[in-house]
Amino acid sequence: MPDVNDALADLLRPELSELSAYVPAEPPGIEVHLDANEAPPNTSSAVKAAVVRAIEQTALERYPDAQARELKARIAERTGARASDLVVGTGSDEIISLLVTALARPRAKAPQATVLTVTPTFVMYRVTSRTHGAKPVEVPLDDAWDLDVRAMSRAIELVQPNIVFIASPNNPTGNRMSGDRLRQVVDAAPGALVVIDEAYVDFCGGSLREWRVRHANVAISRTFSKVGLAALRIGWLEADEGLVREIDKVRQPFNVSATRQAAAAAVLADAWSDVEQHVAAVVGERMRVASEIARIPGFEVTPSAANFVWVRTPKPASDVYDALVAKGILVRSFHVAGGRLAKQLRITIGLAHENDRLLETLRTCA
Ligand code: PMP
Repeated sequence: MPDVNDALADLLRPELSELSAYVPAEPPGIEVHLDANEAPPNTSSAVKAAVVRAIEQTALERYPDAQARELKARIAERTGARASDLVVGTGSDEIISLLVTALARPRAKAPQATVLTVTPTFVMYRVTSRTHGAKPVEVPLDDAWDLDVRAMSRAIELVQPNIVFIASPNNPTGNRMSGDRLRQVVDAAPGALVVIDEAYVDFCGGSLREWRVRHANVAISRTFSKVGLAALRIGWLEADEGLVREIDKVRQPFNVSATRQAAAAAVLADAWSDVEQHVAAVVGERMRVASEIARIPGFEVTPSAANFVWVRTPKPASDVYDALVAKGILVRSFHVAGGRLAKQLRITIGLAHENDRLLETLRTCA
């Protein structure tokens, strides 16, 4: 690949030299994709029909609704949020980016804004911070992959973050953060925005969006990507209305296309029960897969509240990963990070026959 020419190289953010563009691994011969936390490939005909109808009725010559009013109204209806508390984005990836763009003023005497999160967690908190000139700080989760409150509180005191991102359920570990610990972190950070990323909350219920009533500095982010609609790229933030107005200033006015707004609104209005059934099926398969993997000698599974399982392997994760790839199954390995991730795999729940194929191969890796 050619390097950027020297004159332009001098203009690039220095952080870019340490980053790589996101390119998902796709070894040849893969037939079963259990690597990206997408929904299994069985979109219902009612969901497809709702999307097709919505797109057919979209005026293609017109710009989208810059306020995404219909979609926000439908999200509000389904979640109990107020439409005026919502920002809709191109996946929750864009929500993260909007937040890091808007809340970027460095604290007095600090050279740059700081973003606090945990590790391991969703990589975009760190990457987005880097590409936006903010400093990411990551505090390790404890041995049970839960929040280390003491270390988080110390970090909050020390670095005075602008934003604290906590995914619950967390990716890649699949578990929810303990409620009392999360509350202590929220209490320790009254001067920061604490974003509880609920990308996987559909698979466990119990959204913490009620916390916003008591804490003006708490925001919730959600997405349609995990429940079967990843192709639509729709995510949203629920936050204080005043903050929503500020974030709207940094958002591109037409950030979500008219076809995507219409399609997502139509699924919410006309086919949501199919989405719910789909989620229930994934949860059922998750329980089966988790208990079957736990029965394989040497394998351990972290209790999952998401649409994937976090698996400890008896030998280096890369060996198990390779054995699965050889059988046409793709999962996500974290072995390059080393340390306690060297024997961890993240495995998305697939269709029953895909999961059977996975289990069969894992049994040969004991
Ligand atoms: N948050 C978490 C915790 C995730 O795991 C993901 C997807 N991997 C996202 C946000 C981004 O989701 P999307 O941009 O598809 O909405």
